[in-house]
Amino acid sequence: MKFDLSEQQRIIVDTARRVGEDFGPDYWRKQDADKAFPREFWKAVCDAGLAGTLVPEEYGGSELGMFEKALIVETLAAAGGGATVGQLFMVGPIFGGLAIQRFGSTEMKKEYLPKIANGLIVAMALTEPDAGSNSLEIQTFAERDGNGWKLNGRKMWTTAMEAADKVLVIARTTKIQDAPKKTFGLSLFMIDVKRMGLEFSPIEKLGTNTLSSSNVFFDDVQIDGSELVGELDNGWRQLLDILNTERIAATASLVGTGELATRLGVAYANDRKVFGGKPISSYQGLQFPLAQAYVEIESARLMNYKAAWLFDNGRDHGAEANIAKLISARAAELATDRAMQMMGGMGYAKDSHVERLWRDARLFRIAPISEEMIYNFVAMQNLGMPRSY
Ligand SMILES: Cc1cc2nc3c(=O)[nH]c(=O)nc-3n(C[C@H](O)[C@H](O)[C@H](O)COP(=O)(O)OP(=O)(O)OC[C@H]3O[C@@H](n4cnc5c(N)ncnc54)[C@H](O)[C@@H]3O)c2cc1C
Repeated sequence: MKFDLSEQQRIIVDTARRVGEDFGPDYWRKQDADKAFPREFWKAVCDAGLAGTLVPEEYGGSELGMFEKALIVETLAAAGGGATVGQLFMVGPIFGGLAIQRFGSTEMKKEYLPKIANGLIVAMALTEPDAGSNSLEIQTFAERDGNGWKLNGRKMWTTAMEAADKVLVIARTTKIQDAPKKTFGLSLFMIDVKRMGLEFSPIEKLGTNTLSSSNVFFDDVQIDGSELVGELDNGWRQLLDILNTERIAATASLVGTGELATRLGVAYANDRKVFGGKPISSYQGLQFPLAQAYVEIESARLMNYKAAWLFDNGRDHGAEANIAKLISARAAELATDRAMQMMGGMGYAKDSHVERLWRDARLFRIAPISEEMIYNFVAMQNLGMPRSY
């Protein structure tokens, strides 16, 4: 087992650091306040070749692995963006790029993969008002209509619709009551966001403000035959494959968040004196919580590298990716909360940046998969215990 980065990986990290430093915490503070998609940041990421690292060379990417992707996301998140950087790498490189790369037709690959490397945003619509953790119970239905389908239903929380050109929609193509098993009958379609019958409206939320999350309505939306991604009715397996890589991007951004919050907290505490001449960072009561956060962040980082390595070597990485996401979400929550506490009143001020990092990181104990569902998964898959629900 080797832990040293190769020369190429070091260059990638340096590139990400340089791009990240051009978009420090003040940039993100403004985007957050304006609820504005970070366009300039995403353009710089694409111009530096960091969005297309998973895309094969023949389609304009650099054909690197998930491990390199994790390094990039960690570095950009730690420079200022925090957890939202992980979401940015989901909407495009993963929901669009990986989905097409692994399951799309040759025509789709030719059309979309070069665009992914250049920054195409692709939202992903799975969750519905009555189907969140229980994704198999979605009701959005694509009914056969000539060569294509007619889509009806409703989605919730679909992120980045306002910035996206495309949306990967997960719909039933066989109703659950007609399916031989629940996992049969789901299909993936990549369609235009601007299409007759498709409407969406953003949901007011606590954080991750640079990427809106929307209610989406499909009313007789026409889908062309060529917009099916992968196999009809067998979308469930494909979807799990995509969602497990989404966890790796999320974890990398949470590791970066933890690093950044710790850095900001320590810098403040080294400087701040309250009683006498000693800085508050010399109090053990303030040191231990951040030291604990550091320990947890480093553990999450390692588990994420393992998940990425397994993915890059074509191996099952589901448990590792989910475990890493669980640890990193807690570690980032701890780091941001303790950094805020360490800053006293200043931690509550927008200028400190940790309040944004804290708001954004909190999401990841709930989404993209809740920690309870990860414990369910581990109990069944890793411990061989019966399904409890
Ligand atoms: C800001 C934001 C962005 C999002 N972006 C997207 C997106 O882009 N695309 C998309 O499709 N979805 C998105 N989601 C949805 C997200 O994936 C879901 O919110 C998440 O999967 C949880 O589903 P739910 O909200 O329906 O909670 P529910 O499924 O209703 O669960 C509620 C609570 O019950 C617990 N629970 C449920 N079942 C069990 C069980 N069997 N055992 C123990 N506990 C259980 C859960 O862990 C949770 O704590 C987003 C959500 C948010 C908040």
